[in-house]
Amino acid sequence: MAVMEDKDQVWRGVLAALRLNVSEGTFNTYLRHTELIETTPSADKLVCQVGCSSAFIKTTLEQRYWGQISGELTRILNRDCEPVFVVIPHKEDRPQPTGPLFSPPAENDSRWKGARLRADFTFDNFAVGGSNQMAYAAATAVARSPGGAYNPLFIHGGVGVGKTHLMQAIGHEVLKKDDTTILFCTGEEFTNDLVEGIQRKTTDKVRAKYRRVKLLLIDDVQFIAGKASVQEEFFHTFNALQREGGQIVMTSDRPPGEISRLEERLRSRFGAGLIVDITPPDLEMRTAILLIKAKQRQVDLSIDLARLIAEHIEGLRELEGFLVRLLSEVEINHQPLDRQTVERLLHLSRPTNGQGRIVTPAEVINAVSTFYGVGVQQLKGERRTKTIVWPRQILMHLLHSELKLPLEEVGRLVGGRDHTTVMHANDKVKKILVTDPTFKDQLTDIKRKLLIPS
Ligand code: ADP
Ligand code: MG
Repeated sequence: MAVMEDKDQVWRGVLAALRLNVSEGTFNTYLRHTELIETTPSADKLVCQVGCSSAFIKTTLEQRYWGQISGELTRILNRDCEPVFVVIPHKEDRPQPTGPLFSPPAENDSRWKGARLRADFTFDNFAVGGSNQMAYAAATAVARSPGGAYNPLFIHGGVGVGKTHLMQAIGHEVLKKDDTTILFCTGEEFTNDLVEGIQRKTTDKVRAKYRRVKLLLIDDVQFIAGKASVQEEFFHTFNALQREGGQIVMTSDRPPGEISRLEERLRSRFGAGLIVDITPPDLEMRTAILLIKAKQRQVDLSIDLARLIAEHIEGLRELEGFLVRLLSEVEINHQPLDRQTVERLLHLSRPTNGQGRIVTPAEVINAVSTFYGVGVQQLKGERRTKTIVWPRQILMHLLHSELKLPLEEVGRLVGGRDHTTVMHANDKVKKILVTDPTFKDQLTDIKRKLLIPS
């Protein structure tokens, strides 16, 4: 890195990646005002001096973020990096990072910050499809008439399906119309607040904080289960708020009925309004979401590329993480935003005749079919004789582990099977690979035919 500008760019890449893994509050407190000061080669690695504005921040970064920071630096600079933190005076006039890696806030209004909402978690940035249609309809209804439509609104679903986004979108929408007091917090923050209140004998204050709001958004509410005093307090908060016409929206990783060690009276309160779920997004949805995320960063990503990426990455957080990686390749390492760069980052390209190209699922299916002498239709079919089941499982393993296709996609390719079947097959093959050297040779043979490095 010869020029100063490169350092800033590298650091922007690091921060953009970290930003995806921490809350907005954590990012602003610990990470936003850091900078990469200097990099010095030392033996087999690069020592990277990172400036931060206080000793407290320095310690936090060393204890909690050292691993992530060194990982991101190593990824971007493509060599082993060791971050070293130093305290430097805080420069007020330090330019704020801009550019695609840092999406600009949606609006120039600080009210959503007071409510601790993430700027881009709005309805405008939310793609709607089969997996979240109901939840979306309910959320917009609540945003139109808080306290009047469904109260409480309870949204549940797996990790990264958009619960927090949808919930915060309600907050943004309500804030647009009037100056209502709204509060967003996680079940964990509510718990910590209360525990601290009890210790410091300031429970009244804590109570007032939660009860005076007109819209209370509690994210990951399942966290309060099993904690008696917290549940008790929450119960009263809940009642007090509703009595005053306040709206409550909650999210959880599962429906109220399945949250263990949740008090019965809370369970019934949670279900008294409307319970909606969000299921994992399908390929179309993931593509749409990726396009939204790219547009937010003012990046011109084609539909084809978005689809290619979405075909290979299942989780929405991972998808966004990939976008950030892709952008740092483009911005920092000056790679073109094209198919080849995407394929390389997806680890898809297998050099053949000197040109990068990817092995297609059809090629893998044919290779397995030829190697074991089992027809393609039989591989995809229902018959469960041993001579067919085993090659079928190997096929699923190769598609998942070598082509990095998501489980659901592999299931679809191999006769519309369930993702758990694919998972089971993949696990089984991996286990046998370890114990059976003959089988390992067979697999190496198939892979060699496909030009997959073993
Ligand atoms: P959860 O709270 O369910 O774990 P998040 O709300 O944090 O998930 O969503 C994970 C990421 O996926 C976020 O970046 C979010 O913006 C994005 N996301 C999820 N669903 C959608 C959607 N329907 N449209 C646009 N972005 C979405
Ligand atoms: Mg969430």
